[in-house]
Amino acid sequence: MLSQNLREVESNIKSACERVGRARESVTLIAVSKTQPVSAIEEAYALGIRDFGENKVKEMLGKEPQLPADIRWHLIGHLQTNKVKSVLSNTVLIHSLDSLKLLDAVDFEAMKQKITVEGLLEVNVAEEESKFGFHPSELWELLSRLRQYKNLRIRGLMTVAPFTTNAENNREIFQKLKEISIDTKWNTLDNISMDILSMGMTGDYSVAIEEGATMVRVGTGLFGARA
Ligand SMILES: *Cc1c(COP(=O)(O)O)cnc(C)c1O
Repeated sequence: MLSQNLREVESNIKSACERVGRARESVTLIAVSKTQPVSAIEEAYALGIRDFGENKVKEMLGKEPQLPADIRWHLIGHLQTNKVKSVLSNTVLIHSLDSLKLLDAVDFEAMKQKITVEGLLEVNVAEEESKFGFHPSELWELLSRLRQYKNLRIRGLMTVAPFTTNAENNREIFQKLKEISIDTKWNTLDNISMDILSMGMTGDYSVAIEEGATMVRVGTGLFGARA
């Protein structure tokens, strides 16, 4: 089932790229393996997937030692500051930097560990009460602080769009995130780049790619429904 699902997802990604004249290589597929057993990840690995997304630190750290070392682990869920220490050297990209307190904690801990950490600012584009992330208007207040970080490199933006059964409903959300990423205000910071846009999940990744996603996070579409 996984190989068939992967073929379908790959074909959708390719079509979406073609529709807007993008190269397939401009989009990274992240297999969201939360709640999936190690065996499912091994199966996906055998099919060539190397980028996996987990939303819980404990779950990610539990699976990691059991799996090949060349897997790129993406942390996509809310990160509590007391877990920062344990996760930094084990993830290639933190997609969910969602508060000033967390940004400070990650930079500070990375400095202590003498490593450079890469992450994305999570933006709550639709300003949903139930969601983590900065509201779009809050981002610009962060600029002076972001400039000071020595060990944290911001590589772009991430959003979790509202749940919908019609992907078209989220097109505007994705357009808005893209728009924020190309705002010239970012150009005043040379330790920040805006080359990654992590947006789109099983229900709406094709639309997200049409609107500029460089990383899509697909769980159910690959592994089937979660228990
Ligand atoms: C679970 C999750 C996904 C994947 O969701 P699916 O609808 O199963 O593709 C993507 N991003 C985040 C942040 C998630 O928590």
